[in-house]
Amino acid sequence: MPYHCVVCIKQVPDTSNVTVDAMKEDGTVNRAALPAVFNPDDLHALEAAVALRDQYDGTVTALTMGPLGAAEALRECLYRGANRAILINDRRAAGSDTLATSYILSQAIRKIGQYDLVFCGRQAIDGDTAQVGPQLAEKLGIPQVTYFERFVEVSDRTVRVRRNVGNGWEILEAKLPLLITALDTANEPRPSAARRMMQYKRARTVAEVERDVAASLPDAGAEERDIAQANVIEKLKRRGLLIEQWGIDEIDADLQWCGVAGSPTKVHRVQSIVLTKEGFKGIEPTEEGVRGLIQELIVDHTLD
Ligand SMILES: Cc1cc2nc3c(=O)[nH]c(=O)nc-3n(C[C@H](O)[C@H](O)[C@H](O)COP(=O)(O)OP(=O)(O)OC[C@H]3O[C@@H](n4cnc5c(N)ncnc54)[C@H](O)[C@@H]3O)c2cc1C
Repeated sequence: MPYHCVVCIKQVPDTSNVTVDAMKEDGTVNRAALPAVFNPDDLHALEAAVALRDQYDGTVTALTMGPLGAAEALRECLYRGANRAILINDRRAAGSDTLATSYILSQAIRKIGQYDLVFCGRQAIDGDTAQVGPQLAEKLGIPQVTYFERFVEVSDRTVRVRRNVGNGWEILEAKLPLLITALDTANEPRPSAARRMMQYKRARTVAEVERDVAASLPDAGAEERDIAQANVIEKLKRRGLLIEQWGIDEIDADLQWCGVAGSPTKVHRVQSIVLTKEGFKGIEPTEEGVRGLIQELIVDHTLD
């Protein structure tokens, strides 16, 4: 049976080297200060969806909300096997926290229409909250399985999924449509395929077309540019190379739930923490040692 999988992917600032200017005064991420990378867990989410499609047929749609540069991550999805790519880009979505992000993604998925599975990474390396997947499932009104490792059985509208719970695993049965958040132990993401890179390297969003046409016709008037843009867009569409680009209005999102207005979370400070030797304390593996540790944790209210 063919399955339509939607994979939510996020282009994230590379947090392996956070500098002091990584956050703006309003507590949102200063993306210009950090290089952008594909969120690592999302590669595993994408692989899980593409492998399912390869085995049972169907389609994989990659979806991201982000700046125009996030089109690069969508091209990577196409290189790695996705059939369709959609960018949600709207300056009114900027500054969204997890509530607003999951709301906007849920509206985009509603616009996509029919789907069987939604895949997310477990966590994004910038916000690090692991909230978007579960919140998205809530907003779509579908069941969720987090910490996905693999499908044990796929049978028509029911799947059995193995999830890793840290010191073991459990197998859950769920009905479709279902949202899954994937762990980095789920699979080995396939590399970009050379053939698909040749096929999709010219895939563009409308904004990229506008930028490219403006750069290639610097002296042209507005009308000439509009015609050139329309021609390029038509050509891309015909060749299946147009990365769809939607704004808040196209997905019928209510502005009060988007961007800063729809985001109750405020980040006050980001800090790069380097653990030094003093950050560690040796505990003797004896009953007395463990008792002492528990006492300390109670005193500093880590345990109540
Ligand atoms: C230091 C710092 C702290 C922050 N703290 C908070 C906080 O406490 N609470 C809060 O609400 N926000 C916080 N944010 C904002 C956070 O970056 C955004 O809320 C973000 O858009 C989504 O949250 P996340 O990165 O934690 O995603 P997660 O919930 O960790 O992401 C899980 C998965 O959801 C999907 N996903 C997430 N974002 C997108 C997207 N834009 N497009 C497509 N798929 C996506 C991906 O599959 C991803 O793997 C913080 C940001 C920073 C820089």
